[in-house]
Amino acid sequence: MNPFNYSKPNDVSQAINLAGPATRFIAGGTNLLDLMKENIARPEHLIDITGLPLGDIRETPSGGVLIGALVSNADLAWHPQIEQRYPLLSQALLAGASPQLRNMASTGGNLLQRTRCYYFYDATVPCNKREPGSGCPARDGLNRIHAIFGASDECVATHPSDMCVALLALDAVVHVQGRSGERTIEFADFHRLPGAHPERDNQLADDELITAVELPAQGFAANSNYLKIRDRASYAFALVSVAAALEMDGDIVTDVRVALGGVAHKPWRDQEAEGVLIGKAASADHFAALADALLQHATPLEHNGFKIKLARRAIIRALSDAAAGGRAR
Ligand SMILES: Cc1cc2nc3c(=O)[nH]c(=O)nc-3n(C[C@H](O)[C@H](O)[C@H](O)COP(=O)(O)OP(=O)(O)OC[C@H]3O[C@@H](n4cnc5c(N)ncnc54)[C@H](O)[C@@H]3O)c2cc1C
Repeated sequence: MNPFNYSKPNDVSQAINLAGPATRFIAGGTNLLDLMKENIARPEHLIDITGLPLGDIRETPSGGVLIGALVSNADLAWHPQIEQRYPLLSQALLAGASPQLRNMASTGGNLLQRTRCYYFYDATVPCNKREPGSGCPARDGLNRIHAIFGASDECVATHPSDMCVALLALDAVVHVQGRSGERTIEFADFHRLPGAHPERDNQLADDELITAVELPAQGFAANSNYLKIRDRASYAFALVSVAAALEMDGDIVTDVRVALGGVAHKPWRDQEAEGVLIGKAASADHFAALADALLQHATPLEHNGFKIKLARRAIIRALSDAAAGGRAR
C-alpha cells in the first residue's frame, strides 16, 4: 500500500474543496481499502466522509424517499419504509455481501464499487480499466463472469452491485454536489459503458460527492422480486440477477420494470423489451416474450454464452414470482 494523507472534514463543502484527481473519498472502506492493499488504487489523499451529515432517510415532498449517501446497506435494507414500500430494494441489498459488510458498506460507496473482473484485481497482468491502453486479457481469456451486453474491445467487465440493479428498476435519481454546485443524475445515466475509456465507471467529476439517492413514490410493493443467481448460495457476486417489478390491473400488466445485474458494465435495462409486456396478461409465455426481446441483443464471449439461457430463465421466474406477490418476505 502506498503512503497517503488523511483528512476527516465535517461538512460537505469542506470535503468537496479537498477533492481532486489524486484524492478519494472513503466511506465504509470495504472496496477502496481492498483496492489500495492490492496496489490497484493509489490515492495520495483519503478524505474520510463518515463525519458528514449524510446518514438520514426521509420522505420527499413528492411522496418518495431520500436516502443519505452514508446510510449503511444494512440500515437501508431493514428500514421500515424501504421494507414496506420498496421491498425490491430491500431484497437486493440483503442478497449482497455478508451482514458484517452490509453494516459497513454505504449507499454512495455501493454505487461506486469497482468491477470484480479477475484481471482488474491482478496487478501483474494488463487491464485497460486499471492501466488505460495496456490491453484486456479477459476478452480472449477467462471470461465466464463477464459482459454479454454493451462491452467494448477495451473492456468486457461487469458492474457487481446488487443494490444498483434494484435502483435502476425503481428509476432512482442520484444527488451529487461538487465545487460548481449540486445536480441530479438519472440512475440509468449514472454508470457508463466502457467504450474507449473503461477506466471511467460513471459520470462523476473528481470533486463530486454523492450526497443522496432519491426513490420516486412508486415502489411496486405488491408485485416485485429480486432474483440473484450465483455460484454459491451466499457471499458471492451475481452471474445474473434480475430486479422485476409489475403494476397490474387484475391479470393485465400496466407497467413493468426488468433490470439485470452481472451482464454489463452497468446495471442493464431495455425499455423497448419491457414494452412487449404492457397490456398483456401476466403469463409465463408473455414473460418469455419480454426475455427474448431483451436477450436478442446479447453478445456472448467464449465462456459466458450460458448467461443468455440463465438470464432468460431468471427473467421468467422473477416476473412470475413478482406477479404472484413477490417472494415470501
Ligand atoms: C467479500 C465481499 C463481498 C461482497 N459481495 C457483494 C455482493 O454480493 N453484492 C454487492 O452488491 N456488493 C458486494 N460487495 C461490495 C460492497 O457492497 C461494497 O464494497 C460496498 O457497498 C462499498 O461501500 P463502502 O461504503 O464500503 O465504499 P468505500 O470502499 O468506502 O468506497 C468505494 C468507492 O466509492 C467512493 N465513495 C464512497 N462514498 C462516496 C460518496 N458519497 N461520494 C463519492 N464517492 C464515494 C470511494 O471513493 C471509492 O472509490 C462485497 C464486498 C466484499 C469485500
